[in-house]
Amino acid sequence: MICGRSVFLAGLIDPMDIQVETAPRAAKQAQTRRPPTRQHARSLASAALDVAAEGVIVCDDALRVWLCNAAAFRFLGLEEPLQLRARPALSQVLAASPCLDETGRRTVLAHCAEAVANGDRAGGEIELPADSRAGTGLALRLRRVAPRRWALMFSAARATAASDPLAHDPLTGLANQRRFEAALTDRLAMAGPGGQQDWPGLLLIDVEGHGSLTEASGRAAGDALLRLVGQRLRAALRESDLPARLDDGIFAALVPAAAGVETLARRLVERLARPYVVQGQVAHVQASVGLAVAPRDGHEAGQLLHSADLARRQAKAEGAGIYRSFNVLMREQAEARRSLEADLRKALVLGQFELFYQPQFNVATRRVLACEALLRWRHPIRGLVAPGDFISVTEEIGLINAIGEWVLRTACQEAMDWPGSIGVAVNVSPLQLADPDRLLRAVAGALAASGLRPERLEIEITESALFGQEAATLDCLRTLQARGVQISLDDFGTGYSSLSRLRSFRFDRIKIDRSFVKDITEDAHARGLVRAIAALGTGLALATVAEGVETDEQARQVEYEGCTDLQGYLISRPLPASEVRAVLLRLNERALLAGAAD
Ligand code: C2E
Ligand code: MG
Ligand code: MG
Repeated sequence: MICGRSVFLAGLIDPMDIQVETAPRAAKQAQTRRPPTRQHARSLASAALDVAAEGVIVCDDALRVWLCNAAAFRFLGLEEPLQLRARPALSQVLAASPCLDETGRRTVLAHCAEAVANGDRAGGEIELPADSRAGTGLALRLRRVAPRRWALMFSAARATAASDPLAHDPLTGLANQRRFEAALTDRLAMAGPGGQQDWPGLLLIDVEGHGSLTEASGRAAGDALLRLVGQRLRAALRESDLPARLDDGIFAALVPAAAGVETLARRLVERLARPYVVQGQVAHVQASVGLAVAPRDGHEAGQLLHSADLARRQAKAEGAGIYRSFNVLMREQAEARRSLEADLRKALVLGQFELFYQPQFNVATRRVLACEALLRWRHPIRGLVAPGDFISVTEEIGLINAIGEWVLRTACQEAMDWPGSIGVAVNVSPLQLADPDRLLRAVAGALAASGLRPERLEIEITESALFGQEAATLDCLRTLQARGVQISLDDFGTGYSSLSRLRSFRFDRIKIDRSFVKDITEDAHARGLVRAIAALGTGLALATVAEGVETDEQARQVEYEGCTDLQGYLISRPLPASEVRAVLLRLNERALLAGAAD
């Protein structure tokens, strides 16, 4: 039974020190006049703990219990005093509690272990769900009170919105989106001219890094990391600020007065990036923070959240690990992007895409042996849009597969009109290769529908397409090659230019990026690289195409260095489909005449 002095002390404070109530009045007065002795101070502290309403358990780094006050016993429903001199493990103490179920016990232990491992001075707070304890929920706070000593404080969860399971995020104990938005709305309603409160500021914090930890070490590790991030966020804020977790790795903070919000953002970026210890391993996250302040960036909750979100995206796009404040330009860019997406979604159905073709000239035969299909978007207001301005958007919004299939079908169909057996090269996005079955079906469908021989079709991929899903991608390319389709490596020299890739797959052609060809006449370095790549091609029995040849000097130089094919404005600009046939006939006729004259 807990009776009388119920602060159980194990080396920290001795029960015999508790003399406050029994000391004679005179002695007490004398004591108050003299500076308090160390022992007296300890007695006062333990007496205060004894009557505290909050339960307190003091543990060391190994989570062994050194002290447990009466209220802690009450909260845990423990009847028998613990033998604290033996320093029982916290897990044992919690296991003895009839008030905590298995989940509750594990939550408390995991929380303490994480905080101790991370050495955070502010160990953070958790609220156990009501069903972890009979009756009311239990709120817990952990604080480091001395080197290697931690105080675990218990109280009944407040019957406020904070303890409403619908208002808080069960993983971190922070406010959830619903509560956060409600608080923001309230704040905004109370602010402003004539209002009693300052205008608030808002931070959206995009945390990256837990996903890779989850992949490597499992869900529990990723969750533990997010919990630690939540604790650090709370520790970095003032009592009056409201931290929240809105979605997976998206945290937020509502700051009652916007002044100083930039300093806070800078501090958060720096603090959240410090290392964490999760399940004994060191983990890192990067935080991209977007700021918005009322009323400048919005008077109303939805608008302010949207502004902060645009700033967050901007911070992330600029490389993460930074903060950005909202500005009007961001809204305009977002609007432009939205309208581009909307137009692109309609473009295929409205038949606004077309293919241009650029001839590739073979050095040995002096003839055009193939043309590259280059996508164009003819928009009634935007005009003729180049692929550099929209392909990446179609990739991001998931349209590239459908557009890529259209390109394959159209290119094969249109190439059937060309003289001789001139081939057609089609650019394929890394995202198309990421779905090999669909790509194989699309190629087979395009060949079957047009009747084009597979040998006349060439697929151009960039090196980045080979990252990630190597085995499946290589299998797909091998299947295509086995069916007779040629495969070339585009923009060689701009990516990793890895020799092992050239070894793992036998490409039919390498295309040397335009940036090398552009400088070839003036820059010995660029010339050396083109020579080396051409030699690589000769050694591996691959064709090498020089891209972007614009002048006679460049053409002479790339030929001299050993490139087998040329492509560029010198031979021809990309041509609309209707003009290709005539130009091909003319170019090859000229080659024929030149050959006859030799
Ligand atoms: P790429 O495959 O490297 O295509 C060559 C680009 O260089 C083309 O730009 C072409 O117009 C341009 N070019 C050719 N010769 C010269 C020259 O002598 N000087 C200069 N300055 N430029 C030259 P374009 O058509 O704007 O295409 C850009 C990129 O867009 C392509 O680069 C390709 O990666 C991508 N792309 C084009 N069409 C498609 C497509 O149907 N699907 C996919 N996924 N990507 C495509
Ligand atoms: Mg290409
Ligand atoms: Mg290229």
